[in-house]
This record gives sequence, structure tokens and C-alpha cells, in this order.
Amino acid sequence: MAKLYFRYGAMGSSKTANAIMVQYNYQERGQRALLMKPRLDNRDGADRVGSRSGLSARCRFVEDMDGMDLSQYNCIIVDEAQFLTKAQVEKLVSVVDDQNIPVICYGLRADFQGNLFEGSQWLLAWADTIEEVKTVCWCGRKATCNTRVVGGRVTKEGQQILLGGSESYVALCRRHWRRGELAPLEIRKISAGKWEFRDLLLEADPEEAAVNRYLDDSDLYVLFASGSPVSEICLWQRPDGHLEIKNLATRADQRGKGYARKLIDEAVRRYSADFRRLYVGTALDNIAFYESCGFRRDYVEKDFFLTHYAQPIYVDGQVLRDMQYLVMDLDI
Ligand SMILES: [Zn+2]
Repeated sequence: MAKLYFRYGAMGSSKTANAIMVQYNYQERGQRALLMKPRLDNRDGADRVGSRSGLSARCRFVEDMDGMDLSQYNCIIVDEAQFLTKAQVEKLVSVVDDQNIPVICYGLRADFQGNLFEGSQWLLAWADTIEEVKTVCWCGRKATCNTRVVGGRVTKEGQQILLGGSESYVALCRRHWRRGELAPLEIRKISAGKWEFRDLLLEADPEEAAVNRYLDDSDLYVLFASGSPVSEICLWQRPDGHLEIKNLATRADQRGKGYARKLIDEAVRRYSADFRRLYVGTALDNIAFYESCGFRRDYVEKDFFLTHYAQPIYVDGQVLRDMQYLVMDLDI
């Protein structure tokens, strides 16, 4: 007998990545799995689901289910299932019971105020199997609650569903959700939506075209202070196989707190097993900082700033010309 599954988890618990992997597993065995989501959610473009890990896949809309021949599918997977209506959950129940097709729904349990979503309410009521997709709070406890953050602050006010706004969501344990306490300091790897941090990226590298040359192929880490992005580091694998810091910036009003140094330490910690050297290219005025972090001067690329940028870059009234490269050994 087919079953209705509800796999719930807080924001950032890899539900979408799980949904995409389940579809992949079916396909690998020569079976067909239909991936769907409610039309309400249009963050990732018209007919795609996308996860923070960077995985994305084509999908159909739950609203179009009536016109589809579902009998050709071995399984139906629904992402963002919290946005389902009661009638849509009833329809999925009938697919399970009358057509004997398993339906796996992924979604949030409750909104940022702690209220059940409509879809989650009926899935909790009717699913045969209810499973939790786990993630952790910054304190290390299990994160079960979704927190809405606007301008770096936790908000408990507003409508249940806001799409396309400037708000973001963070998963917290219930204790920190109730108190509205975000991580004092937290470094997160950003796989999808790197340009959301454009202000920081352009702080260190003023030309968008220059940033575009390496951003996609780089690992981007952002340091959040109480929920606000204040510093970032962009790490790129050079053609010679070594690692290079392509971009490192801290918001102007947050400098002098050691954030950039923390990001370098994190890079060293994470990459020293896989890379022998960490390079950084910089203008003269930052050399002392990098030397204090353990880098030593290595070589100079003459006229780098003149040849790689459309406009001349001025620092203290002087045109920037040469790129100074410093290096740190990681395998010691
Ligand atoms: Zn916590």
C-alpha cells in the first residue's frame, strides 16, 4: 500500500536538497518521480525548486495536478508543502489511497510566529508517516523554529507569507527563538544567492565585472554578527592548484573587530588538508595586515590593476598599479 509522508524541518534543513535527491534516486532505478510545488512560491523562478546548497531541479505546479496523468509516476514529491491548501492535501491523499502512488511532502511545520501553516496542519493530521529533517541552532541544540530577520533584527510581527521581500529566515532552537537571540558570531558558507552580498563584495573589488570573473567558481563565506552580514571571504582555486583569497571585506562600520582575521583563520582551518598554499593579492596599503595574519611577501604582478579593470582605481589619490602577492603555507 502506498503511503503519504510528511517530512518537516525548519529553514535550512536541506528539505529541498532531499526532495531533489529522492527524485534522482528514483530516476537512477529507471522509475519516474514527479517533483511539484505550490505555485505560490516563486522565489526560484517559474518552474524550479532550488536549495541553499546550490542544487536545483525542474518541477511542476500542484495547481496543475488535475490536468496530469499521474498514473505514469512511481512517486510524487512535493516541496514547500507548507503552502498547500487543505483541498490540495485532500487531493494528495486521494492520489495515495485511490491510485496507490506514494506521495512525499517536504515542508516547514510552523511559521515565524510559531503557528502551523495550512498545508502542514493537514499533513500532520493525515500523513501515514511523519518524519523530522533535522538541523541545528547556532548554540548546537536542535533547531525547530523559524525566525524572520529584517535588517539584522528578529521580528515577530507581520503576515505569515512574505515573498520577494528583504526578510530572511534563520532556524533556531525554541529557547533562542522565544528570546529572539541570533548567533553573536556565525560564519556560513554561501552556495546559492552569492550576489545578495554584493555590497560587501564590491567593497573590496569595485568592479562588478571583475567579481563576476571568479565569484561563481569561488567558495564564499559570510560572517554574521547577530544576524547581520558584516564580513566576507571569497576563496578560489588557482590554475596552479593553490588557493587564493580573491575578495575579503568588512562593512565600514564594523572594522577593527577582528572579523577579517576570523575569516582567514576559518579558511586555514577548513582548507589546510586539501591545499598547500594560500595566496592573496592586494594593494600596498593592506600588506601589513596580511603579514600580521601570517602571510609573507611572494611576488608582484606589474600593472595588474591597469590591465584587469576598465577604470583606474585610486587609493589615497594614487592610481593603483601593481598587485602584491603574499603567501602562507598551509601544510605545516
Ligand atoms: Zn539555540
